Amino acid sequence: MKYYILFGPPGAGKGTQASAMAERYKLRHISTGDLLRKEMAAGTPLGKKAKSLIEAGSLVPDEVVEGMIENAFDTIKDVDGFLLDGFPRTTAQAEALDKICASKGGEVTACVSLMIPDEMIRERIKHRASIEGRADDANDETITNRIRTYHEQTEPLIAFYKKAGKYEEIDGTKTIDEVRAQIFSVMDKH
Ligand code: AMP
Repeated sequence: MKYYILFGPPGAGKGTQASAMAERYKLRHISTGDLLRKEMAAGTPLGKKAKSLIEAGSLVPDEVVEGMIENAFDTIKDVDGFLLDGFPRTTAQAEALDKICASKGGEVTACVSLMIPDEMIRERIKHRASIEGRADDANDETITNRIRTYHEQTEPLIAFYKKAGKYEEIDGTKTIDEVRAQIFSVMDKH
């Protein structure tokens, strides 16, 4: 099994690139953000708990998303691997992921990172808000907090995966086609 991480700040283009990546490498795309939004839409207890955190631009507790990933790995069988989008987002989650992969006899294959500057994060999120209507894309304060949360809690993972020799950074400011081509050339190596 391959375990790819699709990494990057909010608005970097992860969701845009994920389906082509999943299709080409026969991976199951798992977005913890999408899973949480489904729980919210269904009004489950988990969805209700997550709602206020997501709308504030904060992270939900590590155990919640770790459980989702573990559950997906346990139940999804007919694929060559997984494409994790929006997970891990903290060092604790990355350590948990290493353990979960090891328990399956595997390891993280590579961390494919789409990088864009902060100014572009805002532009991209505003643009997405007009298309997808996500509550957490529409509010300036929430966007500011998501950018801060990314820098404080998620950015340290760059060093984590560099140290593991698994970090592959791609310039996310390029066109969708150019970014996709770069991603494929990196993934072909792993
Ligand atoms: P996303 O769609 O990846 O931007 O995620 C939307 C929101 O869901 C985030 O701002 C967080 O509040 C929550 N979320 C998604 N993935 C995670 C994660 N791995 N850890 C904690 N919170 C998450």
